[in-house]
Amino acid sequence: MTLNNPPRGTGRPARARHFGSAVTVPLDCGHPATLTDHAFTNGIARTAAGWTSCYRCAYDDQVVDLLVRDTIAGYLSLNASGPPPLGSFTTWPGEILGAVTALWTGSWRWSANGRWRMRYVEVRDLHGQRWRGHGSDQYDGIRLRKITTRGKS
Ligand SMILES: [Zn+2]
Repeated sequence: MTLNNPPRGTGRPARARHFGSAVTVPLDCGHPATLTDHAFTNGIARTAAGWTSCYRCAYDDQVVDLLVRDTIAGYLSLNASGPPPLGSFTTWPGEILGAVTALWTGSWRWSANGRWRMRYVEVRDLHGQRWRGHGSDQYDGIRLRKITTRGKS
């Protein structure tokens, strides 16, 4: 991992030529699409700015993002029961960004999509920083806000 983002090339971000099928041209990060066994993934990550990258580079970028961002989106992979760790905060392909260190659930609520509870989590990331977030237990996706900021004015 490097703290400097790799060069992304110049000009417009490349677009996948055939949606949903294998793309053999290099992505903006310079690597081919990541091989994946999952039918619902195509091995291509996309940055907020529209650049394409393989999962490895996307993961490296997200590990760096933990240091420079105050909020970050990811996914919860919780252990249904059992001793700590309570679960993991991960990237979309499931790579670990942090450990869930605390978990609370609110009372049951009802929506058009059925019964759900608000879930509140605290996460300690790979760098030791603490994050907090909440979201419906109907979704694994969650956005966290950094609790401890260093050197921020
Ligand atoms: Zn790459």
